[in-house]
Amino acid sequence: MKQYDFLIVGAGLFGATFAYEALKHDKKCLIIDKRPHIGGNSYTETVNGINVHKYGAHIFHTNNKAVWEYINQFAEFNNYVNSPIANYKGEIYNLPFNMNTFNKMWGVITPQEAMKIIASQKQCVHKSPQNLEEQAISLVGLDIYEKLIKGYTEKQWMKNCAALPAFIIKRLPVRFTYDNNYFNARYQGIPMGGYTQIAEKLLEGSEVLLNTDFFADRERFEGFAEKIIYTGTIDGFFDYRFGELEYRSVYFESEELQISNYQGNAVVNYTDRETPYTRIIEHKHFEFGEQETTIISREYAVEWKRGDEPYYPINDERNRNVLQKYLECAAAGAPNVVFGGRLGEYKYYDMDVTIESALRLAAKILTVDMYAK
Ligand code: FAD
Ligand code: UDP
Repeated sequence: MKQYDFLIVGAGLFGATFAYEALKHDKKCLIIDKRPHIGGNSYTETVNGINVHKYGAHIFHTNNKAVWEYINQFAEFNNYVNSPIANYKGEIYNLPFNMNTFNKMWGVITPQEAMKIIASQKQCVHKSPQNLEEQAISLVGLDIYEKLIKGYTEKQWMKNCAALPAFIIKRLPVRFTYDNNYFNARYQGIPMGGYTQIAEKLLEGSEVLLNTDFFADRERFEGFAEKIIYTGTIDGFFDYRFGELEYRSVYFESEELQISNYQGNAVVNYTDRETPYTRIIEHKHFEFGEQETTIISREYAVEWKRGDEPYYPINDERNRNVLQKYLECAAAGAPNVVFGGRLGEYKYYDMDVTIESALRLAAKILTVDMYAK
């Protein structure tokens, strides 16, 4: 018998949720994380009373009632609704694209007027949209594409809009109502007091080792447990034998300002091409903070190379093909390892989907006799 039932590599939401469920089934877990903290990318740090989202703005939103009830066991959520604004060379527009945006752009009042302008502006796209540029113009017309989409997207993806896939822009709602809610989600909010408390509660009762990289002592760690739940990069696990999976990366430049309110909103997107950052986050507004000072983070898109923080998986053909090889390798050659989460599965998972996926895995492997041959 080994020392632990599970070694969990990664103390992010996937690993922590799995650990919580495993403990309920009296399983012994060791969780290791190479970072100096738990919570993975959802980690928040309290600085002068403000909960700073260290790895970028995290807004919990879901249509899954079971996941919403699950996460609410670990924190009380406030009534924050994400309503970012766009700053285009000093002109302010509401996001996502809705009647407030159309009114500011064209002075139109009714949905019919807005639809008429979009219909006339999208005539330059003759066929079904083949790329992000054509998709955007056919959804919201040329003016909005030029002021609110082109510059932002090209900064963010470091590629021309005509060379990007259409699906990226389809994530955003387009509404012919006066509704600035960025998400189409039934449940939404920010945990009052930050996200880290959630990971703390999920990991209560399990052993956690921080500043501990799986690869620093791989053989020893592999000998610890019957099964490994691995939430690091899947290509890293297989020593990049089929090449690297690529990521889009971001860099945050944060500062505390000696004023109480910098931009009046949690998220402001800078949609022109010239401003070097894509957006500024003012953390206190996620929790309606009234502190005397404020903390802001400017977000820049940066080229990614191995060793950098992997943020967003790139869902293109090349990466899908490489992933397929690793998945085949995992199925054939690593029976005691389960790959989970955003990096282990190389999927852009929001937090609710991450939790859902960890709960599904727990239901699958904790309810059967894991020692049965
Ligand atoms: P992670 O949080 O990445 O955790 C993986 C952990 O594994 C990390 O702590 C890492 O240090 C550790 N690890 C990796 N390799 C090793 C190793 N070799 N040894 C030891 N430890 C290792 N979701 C939302 O729902 N709403 C949002 O608004 C939102 N905004 C986001 C903004 C940004 C900029 C990003 C990048 C993501 C955002 N997300 C958002 C997604 C959210 O962060 C993820 O859904 C969630 O963090 C995934 O959890 P995870 O446990 O799979 O991965
Ligand atoms: N987008 C845009 N302008 C904005 C906000 C979003 O053009 O002000 C586009 C951009 O192409 C982005 C996509 O919409 O990649 C999806 O936006 P989302 O907010 O989902 O992406 P995120 O910023 O979270 O990566």
